[in-house]
Amino acid sequence: MLVMKFGGTSVGSAAAISQTAELLAEHSTRERVVGIVSAMSGVTNTLLSKAAAAAAGDSDGVDAARAALLAPHRAVLVDLLPLGDRRRETEAALGGLADEVARMLYSVYVLRELSPRASDRIVTFGERMSSVLLAAVLNERGVPAQAVASDKLIVTDSVFGGASPLLDRTSEKAQATLEPIFNAGLLPVVTGFFGADERGITTTLGRGGSDYSASILGHALQARAIWIWTDVDGVLTADPRLVPDARTMSAISYAEATELAYFGAKVIHPKTMHPAVERGIPIWIKNTFRPDAPGTMIGPESVDSGSGHLAQAIASISDLAAITVEGRGLLGVSDVTARVFTAVGRTSANVYMISQASSQHSVTFIVQGAAVDDALAALHGEFESDLARERVLSIAAVRELAIVAVVGGAMRGTPGVAGRIFATMGDENVNIVAIAQGSSELNISFAIAANDVHRAVTALHAAFVLG
Ligand code: ADP
Ligand code: ASP
Ligand code: MG
Repeated sequence: MLVMKFGGTSVGSAAAISQTAELLAEHSTRERVVGIVSAMSGVTNTLLSKAAAAAAGDSDGVDAARAALLAPHRAVLVDLLPLGDRRRETEAALGGLADEVARMLYSVYVLRELSPRASDRIVTFGERMSSVLLAAVLNERGVPAQAVASDKLIVTDSVFGGASPLLDRTSEKAQATLEPIFNAGLLPVVTGFFGADERGITTTLGRGGSDYSASILGHALQARAIWIWTDVDGVLTADPRLVPDARTMSAISYAEATELAYFGAKVIHPKTMHPAVERGIPIWIKNTFRPDAPGTMIGPESVDSGSGHLAQAIASISDLAAITVEGRGLLGVSDVTARVFTAVGRTSANVYMISQASSQHSVTFIVQGAAVDDALAALHGEFESDLARERVLSIAAVRELAIVAVVGGAMRGTPGVAGRIFATMGDENVNIVAIAQGSSELNISFAIAANDVHRAVTALHAAFVLG
């Protein structure tokens, strides 16, 4: 059993869908294959912006949404399917899905309210539409296929916008649903990105979550491998948009991939590795448009660590902010740190890095910029009486920051890496706001001004990766 996931660009045009269908056709002659698809590129963002506009009272957007959603799918259909019953039926199915979106958007518009639960339901329609489209293209090419919505396979908790799978329940449900489809000789084309909770309410796995869907299903079906097809040759030593001469790594470990993804390497969702590790399933990242390129294998071992380089790859995340809680009265008050993170934990803020300098009586931590106001409000609420009594003297934020992470298993136990990183930043005149080293010694990460990211990543890549 092989799980093959295709990202937004791999289903983003008629040419891309054609190529994707070709790859599925080829591999499904040899073994059972589950195809998983993202929404066509741009469609998820369109759905989210239409939903936000409807909640803000924009009725024109609601009317326009149906056509905006149908257009890219219809264009592919007209290109790849001749006029006939199959094209008409597929068009009707896509139209039905777009109608459902329009009805939901209208409800949001009337209520002027978009709950996380409603948003999750609406945003899944990109994947529902692309899976119907790809299944039709496969059928047209003589590969019997069936679109399958993943709320029939993946069982999650009820955390809308970022649900976690219940892996045992998912194994049972996925096997029960897919077995008859395989037995009927059909290739399942499954929607990525979402599942449903135990009550059957639709939940999403978070942005970029189709990679995670692939490994959840790989785990459930005990696949021999998970192949993530995308628009680059594999996991590169840096974001190719920042560093054009970044090179493709042949093999990296699950832990290295998790660190890189967590610190911004968009090519794989950070949670993807977890279900695969449990069963030791290798994850391959491959280029849909250059299928003969070897790709990157993510598995138990990092092969590149033998290359003699101290570090393997550089990642970065921008749009972050630092919050500092500081004050004389904090000294020796042991529960302050606990209160800080309990308060922040109740918000949507994700804490990327923490640094505590006790002589300064301060705690600094980094969160995503979009969450900083909520986090500040929560902290002011928590420390209201302390602020009044000057026990906590200030709660302040610095915005427009970024984190850069240098990642590689070969750094473990190697002295001098941190020295070289910060010497390189010194040479580049980049100011360091906060520093952390993972206890696994797999990564050293530090916060800098967002404006400095390009310079920092380029210099570190030149110093550590290119040697
Ligand atoms: P998909 O739609 O196939 O899921 P994504 O856009 O989510 O694709 O991820 C692929 C993109 O990730 C690449 O086009 C590249 O610009 C970006 N990227 C960022 N960092 C890295 C990296 N270290 N290696 C490879 N790609 C990266
Ligand atoms: N379509 C979803 C997104 O854009 C999931 C994915 O592409 O992985 O976030
Ligand atoms: Mg992606």
